[in-house]
Amino acid sequence: MNVSRRFPGLLGPQSEVVKVIRISALVVAPLLAALPVWAASHPGSEQANINYARPCEPGVKPAFLPLPPGAVDPAGWLRDWAQSAREGITGHLDEWHPTFADGWKGVPIAAAGAKPDGTGWPLEQSAYWLDGALRLGFVLHDEPLLKKIRARLDPVVEGVNKAAFGASFIYWKPGSKPEGFDSWAHSQMGRALVALYQGTGDKSVLDALVKVYADYPTNMGGIALGGGGVSGLCNLDPMLETYSYSGDRRILDRALQAIAMPDVANDLKAWPEGGLAPGHMVIFYENIRLPAVVYPWSGDARHLQAALSAFKWLDQHHLLPYGVASGEEFASGIGAFRKTETCDVTAMLLAASWMYRIQGGGDWGDRMERAFFNAGAAPVARDFQTMCYYQSPNRLRSDALPCEQPNCPGPEGSRFHPLGCPSVLCCVGALNRIIPHYVIHMWMGTRDNGLAATLYGPSTVSALVGPGVPVKVTATTDYPFDETIRLKVEPAKAAAFPLYLRIPGWCQAPRITVNGTRIKLAPDHRGFVKLDRKWVKGDGVELYFPMKPELLRGHETEFPSANRNYFGFEPASLFQPRRLPCLSVLYGPLLFALPIPDADPNTPNREAKWQYALDTAPELRNSGITVARQPMPAHWNWPLNAPLQLNAPAQAFDWQPTDAQALPDKPVAATAPATIQLVPYGCTRFRISIFPVTTRAWGSDSP
Ligand SMILES: [Zn+2]
Repeated sequence: MNVSRRFPGLLGPQSEVVKVIRISALVVAPLLAALPVWAASHPGSEQANINYARPCEPGVKPAFLPLPPGAVDPAGWLRDWAQSAREGITGHLDEWHPTFADGWKGVPIAAAGAKPDGTGWPLEQSAYWLDGALRLGFVLHDEPLLKKIRARLDPVVEGVNKAAFGASFIYWKPGSKPEGFDSWAHSQMGRALVALYQGTGDKSVLDALVKVYADYPTNMGGIALGGGGVSGLCNLDPMLETYSYSGDRRILDRALQAIAMPDVANDLKAWPEGGLAPGHMVIFYENIRLPAVVYPWSGDARHLQAALSAFKWLDQHHLLPYGVASGEEFASGIGAFRKTETCDVTAMLLAASWMYRIQGGGDWGDRMERAFFNAGAAPVARDFQTMCYYQSPNRLRSDALPCEQPNCPGPEGSRFHPLGCPSVLCCVGALNRIIPHYVIHMWMGTRDNGLAATLYGPSTVSALVGPGVPVKVTATTDYPFDETIRLKVEPAKAAAFPLYLRIPGWCQAPRITVNGTRIKLAPDHRGFVKLDRKWVKGDGVELYFPMKPELLRGHETEFPSANRNYFGFEPASLFQPRRLPCLSVLYGPLLFALPIPDADPNTPNREAKWQYALDTAPELRNSGITVARQPMPAHWNWPLNAPLQLNAPAQAFDWQPTDAQALPDKPVAATAPATIQLVPYGCTRFRISIFPVTTRAWGSDSP
């Protein structure tokens, strides 16, 4: 995220002072008294018999219990991709820029947005990278990478532990509490340290987390969604994680006080009533999950409802077909050239994983898969050596559309570079969290000591089940490029435990067999099938999730008028109400696109033809779209020559999109029939994935 817009003094008139709310403890006390009392469980009580339960569990039990990072190993194509991250940006970013070389060292950093005392932008940007690289190190069991990142995190832990009580992770500034932007950046370091504790069990890390969060300010910031002000309230998730491991009541009290601050409580009350505004998308995703994160501890159902209503609103107004909202950097409506900041992809996956963990609904798995397999892959080059700040459903050039009038972060916004946009380094930091965050959440523990297959892909999970019996479950599959997933279950000894299998919401006719015998079980209200049996080594489960082409029918909308000032550089016509009809093609969790071949991620083939409208046949079950498959490549790098392709009916027409008019006003007439080959969106660097439509494809409805 380009914090220059709210970082005082950095870039002049567009800067906006971060709002920090100050409210005395005297005001807070009566509010706390009104909260329902949900006493946390204490060490030694019933959760001692639940694998993966924390020493302190909330009164409202979250549906799933996350496994420690490293419990799930990626395999197959997913391991190839994770390994290329290791060999590319994730493994080497500190060698490429001072922000990542010197962030969190408490020294001056030769980088944009850095303050002389070692704070400012680099705290945020390098914490993103440190967190992502640490998690990738756990996921790949990569000791050299773990050693490199620990050499950066251990001094923070030591610095805090040596400091007086009341220190923050910015330990080199004794006596000062992080505010505004520094508090936001602080929360990102808090997350990295929680992961470090989860992956190592190192008590000194927990000691540091407790020391910081037992005395963290309760006035850490607001939760407003409409503007661009970052909030330190994002410390709530590392705080509550720290409390769940430590039981230090001061931390829980502070978290509950922070969410009960009058301005925060008022904002949350307004969300379900439509009081939502299209603000900065990273902040939006980070903030909307916060009441849900607190909900198990507060027991206040309004907290969960607030989060759910905000997600729903975002889906309706700003969700792009690849599963993440637009954010340039503010919410920008729906459209073929609307852009999504790579930080938004990371923030969306983070937010959805919290909702999934708390609510347990398989639809959160559907959302995460769609975002990960599509929006997660598109902004990084096939060799993971370069990435881009913005992606967009349609990308024709790297110097113009979709970035004809680049304003924020600048002209490099849609180009691939080792640092993304070299002048604003958030996205190249945040990118590194995407793969490990997905892998870590592919399997989760359940309160009845089973395991839940929450996200699919080739992987092996090693975990405890039943009465603490180690089990390994290997998922052999090319999913989502294939429809079959074979699970091999290998408990250390015969053990009874439930295996919960998510049935994707798009799948109408799933088939499940256990040791070759078809199982007929309907999914439960959360979308999971439960296989509760005594498992022995060598048991096999086969999942078959048949996919079919699905057309996503929609309209390009105008830019939100609320952000007219922010987008003052855009033509006035973009703010006029518009409903430009369009279609996108989904197949299972994958979005499909017409690829424009590229010589490299910034050089499209200018001869390639892409001026087509989709001419699908509504009367046919498959809409006239056929599927073509070929073997998976030996090494996975999101190839244009994809193993799964769709052939779709189209009509060539004279289409000359501009930034202000990406799509025709209405369905176009059939003039020159053609069949176009579509590939997974994530395999393309230039593409069309929001298509104009013909009158046949659109049907009789008015546009
Ligand atoms: Zn960013």
